[in-house]
Amino acid sequence: MGNYYQALIAVDASESEASSLGDRAVAWLVARGIVAAELTDCVLGGERLGRRPGPGCALTTDEDGPFAPYNHGFRICGLDVAPCRSVTVGWPAPAACPRCGWTDPIEGDGGELTDQWWRIADALGEWHKGGPGLVDCPSCVLPVGLNDWQPDFLASWAVGQLAFTFWNWPVLAKSFIADFSQALGGHRLRHASFKI
Ligand SMILES: [Zn+2]
Repeated sequence: MGNYYQALIAVDASESEASSLGDRAVAWLVARGIVAAELTDCVLGGERLGRRPGPGCALTTDEDGPFAPYNHGFRICGLDVAPCRSVTVGWPAPAACPRCGWTDPIEGDGGELTDQWWRIADALGEWHKGGPGLVDCPSCVLPVGLNDWQPDFLASWAVGQLAFTFWNWPVLAKSFIADFSQALGGHRLRHASFKI
């Protein structure tokens, strides 16, 4: 079995505020017992340490039943905070231009990925290297930001300067994401997940 992760990316956080905003977020999470204050070896995907779930971790989900990573002794069960240029890519899903409504199914009839998906994939790679993160709509021929092609919840991808990645946590509740956004001063949070 693999490891499932969910990222909440503060897509409009600036590079200069990412670090202080990340600290503020951690303080809010620790105060509610959602994560532990100590940094331990409990996340993947980087050289950083993470924070294990705390006694209040179930506040983050609507799912019933035992809180999986906390109760099953997973080693990889923590929260990683990355105050740096971050890209999360999950399962392809349909995307629509927010301006003209042109819709790309992403997966064609045979399950294949479409040209639009590859344009998006290219733009994600370029954004990571410092690019603008724009993809021209094939219909209205105007650039659309990478984060604007799909709704923020259960998105296929997200880019930003501050990422919170929850490893092997149950699906984060929209109500928790809204509260967390408020704790960050109303910053827009985009949610993307994947399994590796
Ligand atoms: Zn368009």
